[in-house]
Amino acid sequence: MDLLKQRIVENGRVLPGNILKVDSFINHMIDPQLFMEIGKEFATYFSGQPIDKVLTLEVSGIGVAVMTGYILQVPVLFAKKTVSKTLSVDCYETDVFSYTKNTTYKVRVDAKFLEAGERVLIVDDFLANGQAMFGLIDICNQAKCEVAGVGIVIEKGFQPGGKQLRENGYDVHSLAVIDRFDDGKVVFR
Ligand code: 5GP
Repeated sequence: MDLLKQRIVENGRVLPGNILKVDSFINHMIDPQLFMEIGKEFATYFSGQPIDKVLTLEVSGIGVAVMTGYILQVPVLFAKKTVSKTLSVDCYETDVFSYTKNTTYKVRVDAKFLEAGERVLIVDDFLANGQAMFGLIDICNQAKCEVAGVGIVIEKGFQPGGKQLRENGYDVHSLAVIDRFDDGKVVFR
């Protein structure tokens, strides 16, 4: 997606540890026009099949998930990272290792929001080692839902997540795939 790649080149910053900082348009301040285009792109790519729900992870995935769900006209569900009094005890839970925070945390989805047999489109901002996506897939499996596909805004192609998901048969659509960082510059695949 050229518009996205252009923004990454113009406004992204490469940090030590192979982290791409995109906080001026994705992770902290959000560009709603860009997010709407991202939502349209996901909706168009996955439109050839029935989709009942869009699933993501709080916080960074919510914006793109909402735009995608809006276009597809389906509900958007996000896995929660914290336990609150309002979260039902009847929930699906899985462990996710965070690439950026270097720690493992639990994510949960209230069981009443995923019905067996539903087709779920999973979306997120980044794909690196695939931990977040495999965690959400695990939640879909627990709920006996079918994963319709995986929509990723930025895939770091030099990390194994994308390859592993595709090898496991998932239809992964990434809008910008980064091949490598070259002296602080982003090189797309
Ligand atoms: P994975 O679970 O695939 O290893 O990592 C994906 C998650 O880690 C995403 O949800 C994202 O929040 C975070 N992440 C991974 N790499 C980056 C990065 O280079 N930049 C930012 N901003 N987040 C990243």
